[in-house]
Amino acid sequence: MFTVEATHSAIVIGAGPAGMKAATDLANKGVSTALVDDGYMGGLIANVGDLTGPEEIKGQSGADVAGILLGNALEAGVDYRMGAATSLEQHGDLWILPDLELSAPNVVVATGARLAKLGVPGEERLTGLGVSSCAFCDGGLYRGEEVVVVGGGDAAFQEALHLATLCEKVQILIRGPEPRARHQLTAEARGKTNIEIRTNVSVLEVVGDTGVDAIDVNCGGSAKRIETRAVFVFIGVEPATELVPNSIARDAFGALIVDQNCQTSIGGLFAIGAARSGHDGQVSGAYADANLVAAAIAG
Ligand SMILES: Cc1cc2nc3c(=O)[nH]c(=O)nc-3n(C[C@H](O)[C@H](O)[C@H](O)COP(=O)(O)OP(=O)(O)OC[C@H]3O[C@@H](n4cnc5c(N)ncnc54)[C@H](O)[C@@H]3O)c2cc1C
Repeated sequence: MFTVEATHSAIVIGAGPAGMKAATDLANKGVSTALVDDGYMGGLIANVGDLTGPEEIKGQSGADVAGILLGNALEAGVDYRMGAATSLEQHGDLWILPDLELSAPNVVVATGARLAKLGVPGEERLTGLGVSSCAFCDGGLYRGEEVVVVGGGDAAFQEALHLATLCEKVQILIRGPEPRARHQLTAEARGKTNIEIRTNVSVLEVVGDTGVDAIDVNCGGSAKRIETRAVFVFIGVEPATELVPNSIARDAFGALIVDQNCQTSIGGLFAIGAARSGHDGQVSGAYADANLVAAAIAG
């Protein structure tokens, strides 16, 4: 018979804002906790230069916030392990990450989400050659140029506002009839003379050979070409939950369905932040989940 001893009381998978906060809260409550990350510590905020949200993060860079979160986790006594969790198995009352030789009765899935892609010709080939999903990293390469941002949510507007400080002109292309971003961000963008917001525009192709020259779009039913040096894509995220067995309930987007304690459809397996169904898309929501899950596990 297969027997395994628990290495920890809880394992948190993913060192984004949700995972680092949850691991810290758990350790502070006396729960022996391992935190596993695949090397992208900080997750989706890692490359954001100017965060919006509550006072504790507002105006700070994602890298700085991530550094503080990791410092807090280490200080609380969290056992931080580098390495991607590639499989998650249940043996009796224990959850096991075989490749990392970790096991615990409680696992918190904080694997977050990945930025969605346009899925159009030219996008993959020209990624890194003008197609980007990080204005704060790549914006400086297009100083004084005309660029395009695709997407109508907070992230698209936030990054467009940063690009507007560097670029001659920024066009925000939105597939629907209205932006989905918060009023504060859309109002700020509308107040910039070098930002143009265009609605009912879908990208059909990214055009270029060794770099981006233009994009072909469907603009209210007619095909058009927009000349641009760069395309910044922020059209939403896709939950990164493939690690979790298929038997665990998910919503239509693949995010894990949880109860009020962030527990999934099976005991001892929790999901928080962008990996769980109904995440509000904010760091504050990820922190709230972290508090809930720590209280649920620590009892
Ligand atoms: C461009 C952009 C700007 C944003 N700006 C803001 C903002 O200003 N304010 C705000 O409140 N929110 C902002 N958000 C939203 C915010 O980033 C998310 O709400 C938050 O990051 C979710 O945190 P998370 O920890 O759940 O997931 P993530 O941030 O996605 O972190 C998940 C972590 O898990 C790791 N991981 C995944 N799979 C594995 C695995 N198998 N093994 C080990 N590790 C794994 C990942 O590498 C990552 O480190 C922004 C999002 C984007 C895309």
